[in-house]
Amino acid sequence: MEKLLEVRGLKKYFALNKGLFSKGSTIIKAVDDVSFDLKGGETLGVVGESGSGKSTVGRSILRLIEPTAGEVNYKGENILSLKGESLRSFRKNAQMIFQDPYASLNPRMRVGDAIIEPILSHNLMSRGDAIDKAVELLEKVGLDKDYFDRFPHQFSGGQRQRIGIARALGLEPEVIVADEPVSALDVSVQAQIINLFKDLQEEFGFAYLFIAHDLSVVKYLSDRIAVMYLGEIVELCKKEELFENPMHPYTKALISAIPKPDPRIKEKRIILKGDIPSHSNPPSGCKFSSRCYCVMDICKEKHPELIDYNGHKVRCHLFSKGGENNGEISSKENC
Ligand code: SF4
Repeated sequence: MEKLLEVRGLKKYFALNKGLFSKGSTIIKAVDDVSFDLKGGETLGVVGESGSGKSTVGRSILRLIEPTAGEVNYKGENILSLKGESLRSFRKNAQMIFQDPYASLNPRMRVGDAIIEPILSHNLMSRGDAIDKAVELLEKVGLDKDYFDRFPHQFSGGQRQRIGIARALGLEPEVIVADEPVSALDVSVQAQIINLFKDLQEEFGFAYLFIAHDLSVVKYLSDRIAVMYLGEIVELCKKEELFENPMHPYTKALISAIPKPDPRIKEKRIILKGDIPSHSNPPSGCKFSSRCYCVMDICKEKHPELIDYNGHKVRCHLFSKGGENNGEISSKENC
C-alpha cells in the first residue's frame, strides 16, 4: 500500500504563563517526538488515557492546531509548510470526525445543508448535484433521505455521528482522523457506528487514524495500533502482534482491562497505581516509571528510545541494551 502520511518527530508544546520561548515559562510537552506512517486504505488505531496526547496528534496533523516542530508529509509533501489554496486542497483530502457530533454541527443548519456546505465551498459540483450526493450519503450512513430537512437537535447521538460521517464523506477524503468518535455513545450504538466505519472504508478505501482511549474500540477496526503515554508512542505494531505479544508494561495493563467475553476466562487485571502524571512535571527517565510495576533503577535515570524489533516498536528498558530482563525483573509478575 502507498504511504499517504509520514509523520516525523512531531512535537506540540504549550507554554503556561508566558510565551513558548520565554525564560522561566513552564512548558507542557503534549506531543513529544511522535513518528509514524499511515498507508492508503489502512487503519492505525491510536490509544492511550486522557492526557496521552493522542487527540493533539490528530489535530496537529490536520493543522487544526499548529505543531511546534516536526514534519507531516502527505504523499511526499510537508503539509506544515502549505498555505492558501494548497492547504485547502489538503484539507479536502483529510477530514476529521469529532467525539461530539452535536458540537461540530451548526444547530441552526438543516442536516442536508450541513452535508452540502463543504462540497459547495470546495466548488466540487453544482448545488443540484450536491443535494443528490447528500441524499445518497444520508442513505449510505443508514439514515432516511427524508431527514435532509431536519435540524441536529431532532436526532439521537448515534444519528448525529452518522450525519458527521456523511459530512466528512462528501469531500471524498483519502484520510479520516476520527477522534474518539464513539466514546460519547451508548455501548450498543458504539458497535453499530464501528461497523459503519468498517463498511464505509471497505466501500470507499480511505485510511483512518482512529483515536480512542479504549483498546477494545480500536481492536476491531485497526490494522496497526500505536499506544501513547504522556505525549510519546510507547508501542507500535500490527494489531495481532500487539494482542498476542504485548511488550510494554503499559500496553499489558490496557489489554488486561478489556472485559473478557467468556466470564469463565479468568485473567488477572493489572491495576496501575496513580493517575497519569502532569505534562509539566513528568517523571525523569521513563515517563511511565512512576506507575510501572516493572520499574528498574535505570528507568528513573535514562529515557528509553523507541526501538524497532522486526516491525514491533517498543520504548522500554526491559528490551533495550543494559536493561535486559535481569534477576530483579524476572521475579516480578507480568514483566
Ligand atoms: Fe517500566 Fe522501565 Fe519499561 Fe519504563 S522503561 S516501562 S519504567 S520497565
